[in-house]
Amino acid sequence: MSELRKFLFQGLPVRGMLVRLTDGWQEVLRRRTASGTEDEYPEAVLHLLGEMTAAALLMQSNIKFNGALVLQVFGDGPVKLAVVEVQPDLSFRATAKVVGEVPPEATLSQMVNVRNQGRCVVTLDPRDRLPGQQPYQGIISLWDDTGRPIDHFADVLQHYMLQSEQLDTTLVLAANDQLAAGLLIQRLPVQGEGNLSAKATAADEDQIGRNEDYARIAILASSLKQSELLELDGPTVLRRLFWEENRVEFEPLVGDEAPRFACNCSTERVRRMIHSLGIDEARDIVREQGQIEVSCDFCGLAYRFDAIDTEQIFVDTAPGSNALQ
Ligand SMILES: [Zn+2]
Repeated sequence: MSELRKFLFQGLPVRGMLVRLTDGWQEVLRRRTASGTEDEYPEAVLHLLGEMTAAALLMQSNIKFNGALVLQVFGDGPVKLAVVEVQPDLSFRATAKVVGEVPPEATLSQMVNVRNQGRCVVTLDPRDRLPGQQPYQGIISLWDDTGRPIDHFADVLQHYMLQSEQLDTTLVLAANDQLAAGLLIQRLPVQGEGNLSAKATAADEDQIGRNEDYARIAILASSLKQSELLELDGPTVLRRLFWEENRVEFEPLVGDEAPRFACNCSTERVRRMIHSLGIDEARDIVREQGQIEVSCDFCGLAYRFDAIDTEQIFVDTAPGSNALQ
């Protein structure tokens, strides 16, 4: 079953999280092919999407954002789009758009950054967004500080967290067709950090000690192989890595509280989308195809609107009506 485990190291400014997605991740893959219109993900894409899903869950649990966290890669290679959305209750959905062949051993760059046009974006969309308020968007670089493309998604995010939050982060991500999993270790910000630099005090020496603690735990974490993360259960992973450390584990999120697949598409959203096409284009589609059919990329659900349903969308939004507002 899926689970999320949070832990601290007694007396050290280091926190960690381990996520393992089983049923929810398998549901993402099942939905992909359920409608019969899409092929299974190529192996390398499955790994990327699973790693992104585990990572987005770790990020959402880390910041506890009251809204949707959306992690997107817009690719210029065979992977045109990979997207994961995680809600505050840790329900999630994920999908990818693939055009053409993807070799099984393809790197991140070979999938999404062939001509250096790939983009990765994290969006925080508040639940109670005020009118006119834009969601926050952060650009995540697909290149390292020397301008070289980064080939693993975990390294992309590690680099981003260090740049954006100034927080040392170690990430190990892995996925196969049964499981998407991730381990995150992060150095906690120390109170007053940054104000200490001008004064050489005992606090500096404390700081050095704390950095050493983080460095030691980070080395242990990064020794975790992807195969181990996929094959061992959560408690075993943590025990084997940190058996010499004094680790304090919180109550794990399992069962009903565990991360799970859920899609929040709805007829209302599709109606709004058709409405935005305009009545002429909507009528054209009905004339050509007999109906308008829209399938949700995340869950595969098909929404169908015949001629009468389509007319109704525009009647409902006639002046004086607020059905779609
Ligand atoms: Zn859906």
